[in-house]
Order: sequence, then structure tokens, then C-alpha cells
Amino acid sequence: MYTPERERELIELTRRLLRELPKIKDADLEKAKEYAELLREVIRYHDYKYYIQTSPVISDYEYDQLFRTLRDLEKKYPQIVTPDSPTQRVASEITGTFPEVSHYAPMLSLDNAYTEEELRDFDRRVRELTGLDVVDYSVEPKYDGAGIALVYRDDLLVRGATRGDGETGEDVTNNLRTVRTIPLRAEFSKFGIKLIEIRGEVLISREEFKKINEERMEEGLTPFANPRNAVAGSLRLQNPAEVAKRKLEAVVYQVSYVEPEDRYPKTHYEAVEMLHLLGFKTPFNDMKVCKGIDEVIAYCKEWEKKRDEYPYELDGMVVKVNDRSFYEVLGFTSHHPRWAIAFKFKARQATTKLVSVVFQVGRVGTVTPVGKLEPVQIGGVTVSSVSLFNEDFVKEKDIRVGDLVLVERAGDVIPYVVEVIKEARDGDEVPIEFPENCPSCGSKLVKLPGEVAWRCINIACPAQVVLRLKHWGSREAMDIRGLGEATVKALYNKGLVKDVGDLYYLKVTDLVRLPGFAEKAAMNLYRAIQESKERGLDRVLYGLGIRYVGLTTAKKLAQEIDSIWDLKDMPLEKLIRIEGIGDIVARSIREFFSREENLKVIEKLEKAGVKLKKTKLEKEGPLKGKVFVFTGTLRCCSREEAGRIVEMLGGIFSNTVTSRTTYLVVGQDPGRTKLTRAKQLGIKTISEEEFLEMIKGYVDIESLRREKKREGTLF
Ligand SMILES: [Zn+2]
Repeated sequence: MYTPERERELIELTRRLLRELPKIKDADLEKAKEYAELLREVIRYHDYKYYIQTSPVISDYEYDQLFRTLRDLEKKYPQIVTPDSPTQRVASEITGTFPEVSHYAPMLSLDNAYTEEELRDFDRRVRELTGLDVVDYSVEPKYDGAGIALVYRDDLLVRGATRGDGETGEDVTNNLRTVRTIPLRAEFSKFGIKLIEIRGEVLISREEFKKINEERMEEGLTPFANPRNAVAGSLRLQNPAEVAKRKLEAVVYQVSYVEPEDRYPKTHYEAVEMLHLLGFKTPFNDMKVCKGIDEVIAYCKEWEKKRDEYPYELDGMVVKVNDRSFYEVLGFTSHHPRWAIAFKFKARQATTKLVSVVFQVGRVGTVTPVGKLEPVQIGGVTVSSVSLFNEDFVKEKDIRVGDLVLVERAGDVIPYVVEVIKEARDGDEVPIEFPENCPSCGSKLVKLPGEVAWRCINIACPAQVVLRLKHWGSREAMDIRGLGEATVKALYNKGLVKDVGDLYYLKVTDLVRLPGFAEKAAMNLYRAIQESKERGLDRVLYGLGIRYVGLTTAKKLAQEIDSIWDLKDMPLEKLIRIEGIGDIVARSIREFFSREENLKVIEKLEKAGVKLKKTKLEKEGPLKGKVFVFTGTLRCCSREEAGRIVEMLGGIFSNTVTSRTTYLVVGQDPGRTKLTRAKQLGIKTISEEEFLEMIKGYVDIESLRREKKREGTLF
């Protein structure tokens, strides 16, 4: 449909228009007409790329900017609207794989607001149309997932559909039945409701997403760009059993249709409250009814700040007129309801140029291509480099130096190349060449069977040794403050340290020899190294950098053994029986403990007095086998420190409430998510006082607290 030359032109035009947006907004009639034509051309092209080829060449945010600018121009000068303008239609996502069903009420998308000013404009329109001075708005987080509509008749789930084009969706009832947060039965009859259609979103938690990606990376697979992508497609899988394997969740947040009609909850807030009471997962606990737009803006901003702490990926906040009786007078535009708007957080995607590629050697010898980018702002952060993961990833996406790439940065996930904009190529792009030799030590790289990465297998490779030392000192491992990369490099280059064991034989007089190390810094580092001896078995296991043994696996391993030496001869079959340890991980552990040089390092650590065995308390302590989760602020210590106390006494510390949790310890201002979850699962909640009572006589919190004052932290 588009020739390559034409595509290049249109991409160039797109980028020009994006740069000139402020100018376009102020255009006079003559200019507006010209710009509108250009905007329509590029929007049509991007629609084609997005909906037909499903390979967009700009970010959603950039697309939205173009679309809105066109819409605003047409609003300002209605005489320039053409019947075939992209603003005059709604797009569809129907694929024809599942039977089509009509929604009871159309699922319209919401209009977007990107700035405070746009929220105020929305409020002004609402006030004009309703005649109210101050409007009550309900405000709630906007989840970044896949839209669904559920129908319950006589309290039973009878249908679940995708959003589709808003009028018609695909019937995916059997797949949605496998989503555990969707009740198959809900007592709407209690509210006098016979039939109800509710709206929601299917998603996965950030934690689950991280886990999936960690697993993928450890297995040498390419991670997903964002939770939305990990969910995408799941709903349309043909086999519901496959769907059930993915830990999908559903959040519902709107009642769109009710029989009998007079049973409709009076306000949006009450509607969500009803769903919440009936056992659905809803945004109820994070929802607020705001009086007037100022409160709305403050609440939206508050959430934009904490979006990264939320368990789910959010792309904004939904603002709705709370009182439903105004919906009729407010009505709809051709695309959106006038009683609601989405306040969008800063975009997570942008397009930029790939300038060059460098190769980095990782801790286990993996050689990773890292792309250097023309710096670009994404979600308020400047991104100038991006991991290209491995050769397969580069080949699959056909990434070349000089390419225009669409980059995404979602939450704490590493920046990711979503797409190469091949249409922007002019022929000067250069394919990425993979080195044959290690960029650090020069030895020949190998690709092991079944792996996608090239690796340097020289155990003495300087880049790897330095990274292994740095990893040992990292916060989640032995937490040695002052042992950063520069210091590690200096120690290595001076020949003072060759493995982690050597660290514990360093003297202050050695450390003073490091560049920039005065006596005080040397003393501090010395003390930090000595203190790290007490971190415990799980941290040592993690710190050793055994391949595939992440923090979670290290903790699980530590629970199963009393001394690190137990792992030396533990047979493969026994390792595999430990929960969460698969074949690959078990083999890697066996491999590590079968190497003489590794055992020597462990001996060195033991001789230096690094704790490699559990104490009697850890083995038989009063909290043995009990799983603790903490929420809110504790007065005695930080949550992390409380977790260490739990572990010191034989218990297990976790961050998430699951059915295996024994106690949820509730501090001040507890998080509602954990509380709700504990309630749903029937987990016992206890106060901080009750927790302190349990550990009384074993741990002297008072003396720990005095020490805390001196040292900053308890451990
Ligand atoms: Zn090397």
C-alpha cells in the first residue's frame, strides 16, 4: 500500500509535525487547512501501521498528540472537516478468531488529558452543562491492561468479552473463567439486580511480570517489554488451560448496564463499592471522591508520584462525574463520554536514533550488546542507552546502527527496544557485528548449546572478576558500603583482591593505598567488610553469583540447609525437590560446587569468619516455619530489619501476602492491598506489639535500637 520511499517521507513528515505542534496549534485558517491535510495523511498511515500491519512506528503518546492536534484544528475551524478525516471514525480490534457479541452498552474510550489545564477545561465544560458550581468527581487509578466486559445473569457469570470496536467484542468467556479474580458467581440479587454488565481490565502484577522476565532472562530468553505485552494475546489463546497458567488478574471498575433499570447505583462510587463488596477486585480502596477540580488535580499528581510503587502498571487516573443523574445531560461526543476523562501520566515510550553499539561482559561471562541512543526523555527520565540482550534479539528485530527505534521504559524495567522503524531507513544503516573475542580478556567467545548468548568462559576474565566482587558487595548481597565498581577495579588492578574471599584479609594499610582513600574512608570500608560477615547464609548464596541463583532462589535454598557445605554433596534429585528450583538451576548449583576453585573461595570465607552456617536460633527458633509479612510503618525498626529479626529466629520473611503467610504484622498507615488480601485469604493479622511479644527474650530490640542510632541501621 505504501512504497518504502513513501513510508520514509511520511515518517519524516511525522517527526516534523511533532516538532511543530506548538506552531500548528496557533495556525490561521489558511495554514490550518494545510496542516490538517498533512496530519490526516500521517494519521492514516499510522492507523494502517497500527491496525493492519500491527507494527506501529511511533509511540501511542506521539500518535495521540497528532490526533488531538487535528481534532483541535477541526474544532477551531469546523469548515475544514472532511467526511473521511480519521477523527470521524473509531477503530476496531476484531480478529475473527472468536464469535462476536454485542455489548449491552457501547464501550467508549475516554478522552485524554495530559496537563492540568486540560483537566480544568474538562471541568469547565461539565460545570457549564450541569449548571453546578462545584462538581463531585470520583478519581481512581487507570490500569494499563486489556479491556473486558462481563455479564452476570441471576448471579452467574454468563459471558465475558473483549472490548473489540466498542460495540462488538469477541466472546472469550472460557478464557476469562480461568482468571481467578473473576468470581463465577456474585450475589447481585442482593442488590435487586437480575442482569448486569460490568467493565474491567485484564492485567498482571508488576511483581509477576518481573518474575516472568527474570525467569526468561535466566533461561536466556528475551524479556517482555511491559506487563501489557505479557498479557497481550493471552486472552485470545485457543486453549483455556494455557490461559490459566499465566497469572492473569482482572480488575473491574464500572457498571455499564443493569436490569431492572432502576437498580443502577446512584453514583459511580457506590457502583464500585458494590462490586468491591461482592468480592471483585476493584480500585475501590484507591478511589477518592474529590470536591472540585483542584482536589482532582492534587490527587492525580499524588498518584503520578507513586505510580512505580503500585503493584500494577498504571498509565493515568480516571476522573468521572460521580453522580450518575448528570450523565444524560452531559451525553457523548462521537468518541467519548463527556462525563469522564483520563488523566494520562507521562509517556513511557519515545522514538530515537540508535547511534552505536558496545559489548559488555557480565558477571557470568555473558556478552551483551548495549545500544547507545540519541538521548531522549521517557517518563521524566533521560534514556541514552538500552540493552539489546543477545544476538537472537538483535537478529529477530533486525536492529542496525543508525536505525530509528521505538524505546519503552516501564517502571523499574530496563529500557527496551519495542520496534525498529524500518520504514525510516535510508540505506546507511549498518548491521550489528558480534565480536568473536571477549572485549575484556580477548579469549574466544563460545555459545553453549541451548543458549542464545555468547559467553567468555575464562574464569579469570578481569571484567567478570570485577563484576563478581561488585555483586558480592551489593546491597541485596553482603551490603558492603563503599565497595563500588571503581574501588573494586582499583583493588583488582593493584593485585590486592582476586576473589571475594580476599576481601576479608585486607588490612586498613592496604586500603589506604587505593587512589582517593584517606584514612577515614579506608577505616569505613574495612569496618563495612568486617560487618558483612554476619549477613547470613541466604545473602552469601546470592552473593557468590552462582548462575541462575537469584535472591528468591537463594532464600529458598537457605531455608533447606543448615550450612553451605550441605550443598557440596547434595545430589541433583534432592536439589530439584526444593520448591522453586528447576532442572537448570539445580544443575548450575551442582556445577558451582563441583569446582575446586569455588570451594577454595568458600574455605577462605569460612576461615575469615564469614557466617556460613545457621545458628541454633535460626534452626530451631521460636518463629520456625512461620511466614511473616509486614505492612505500614513499624515503630521498632524498618520492615527490612524486622524481616531480618524474623529470619534470625527461624521464621520466613516475605513481601507478599499469599495463602502460605502465617501472620500479617500491621504497623501504622498500613497498605490496603496487603490488608485486603489477608482478609480475602483469611490470614491472621497481628499488631506490632503482638509481634514484639513473640520475639521478647530472644532479640533485644532496645539494644539494637541504641546501636541503630550509632550505625544508622540495625544490620
Ligand atoms: Zn573475557
